Amino acid sequence: MKSGCGVSMKKRALITGVEGQDGYYLARLLARKGYEVFGVVRKKARRSLSGSEEAPAYERIYADMMEFSSLCSCIREIRPDEIYNLAGLSEVPLSWKQPIFTAHVNALGVLRILEAMRLCAPEARFLQSSTSEIFAPSAQPLHEGSAMATRNPYGTAKLYGHWITTNYRESYGLFACAAILFNHESPRRGIEFVTRKISAAAVRIYLGRQKVLELGNLDAVRDWGSAEDYVRAMWLMLQQERPEDFVVATGEPHTVREFASAAFHALGIDLAWEGEGFAETARDQRTGEVLIRVNPALYRFPKEDVIVGNPARAARKLGFLPAHSFHSLVEEIVKSDLSALSEDLR
Ligand code: GDP
Repeated sequence: MKSGCGVSMKKRALITGVEGQDGYYLARLLARKGYEVFGVVRKKARRSLSGSEEAPAYERIYADMMEFSSLCSCIREIRPDEIYNLAGLSEVPLSWKQPIFTAHVNALGVLRILEAMRLCAPEARFLQSSTSEIFAPSAQPLHEGSAMATRNPYGTAKLYGHWITTNYRESYGLFACAAILFNHESPRRGIEFVTRKISAAAVRIYLGRQKVLELGNLDAVRDWGSAEDYVRAMWLMLQQERPEDFVVATGEPHTVREFASAAFHALGIDLAWEGEGFAETARDQRTGEVLIRVNPALYRFPKEDVIVGNPARAARKLGFLPAHSFHSLVEEIVKSDLSALSEDLR
């Protein structure tokens, strides 16, 4: 916050990755709280907004996570009170196709922005968007002290980002902390994630535009929360007296099968599951038509795939409780896809 003649008293926040799902919700939250919000973007927008599109809740500032000097200039110019680092590649399978890019942005990008903050605005508060993928697999809910071990280039790069944030906090005394985010979804989630894949396909099937949805491991378990809720936890973390890391999760395990049942149910279609393993299918209980099939090519390895968080510490210390239930989240995503596709078909 700046003071003095003619200078804004508003708090200033800088968000990297502002064009992603979380960036959208975080910029909106901070703007509503009266912040001046600056979003780091790499390129000038190629087109202007169409009539129905919402104007972004932030001012664009041009910089690149690969370019240290651009981050420095941007921090020097904005003098942010809070920096939220949300930039990075977010899809695990894509990180196998682009492992070097993933390391550059998800690992070294964090170091670049921390260095820029240390040199240009050491009094700012920093939040690193960390991930449940940094933890070793466990059937038990994962907490802040759980063992860390990664299984893919995404997780490995994010683990570096997580630890370098801790290092800068502990060694330089910066207010830097990591929000360890479990899967978080919204109508803005990319279609390559299973939640939006299911939702969009369920809507197309409902509207008669698609026959069958193919999925991988139906037994995979995730702790799906709402992106809109989780950005509130990020903000709360930077309002604490001391910088600390927190797991941000719901603590509720759900299978991919449950997510699919809930998505079709939101459209009035009840599924009947039958068969096992690769032969499992889901039929429409009313018509008997097969709507979901398993495609072994969509399986990931290792196969036992459970990621659930323990949100107790965030509830106790931040007072953070998610506003969305599992079913209200699924319904929100499905309803949004339904209205978008119905609009397209009009
Ligand atoms: P992730 O947890 O960040 O990898 O998010 P995803 O939404 O991509 O995947 C969540 C879980 O759903 C993983 O365990 C996947 O193996 C499982 N899954 C099952 N079928 C599919 C599918 O067709 N697409 C995707 N993306 N995931 C699937």
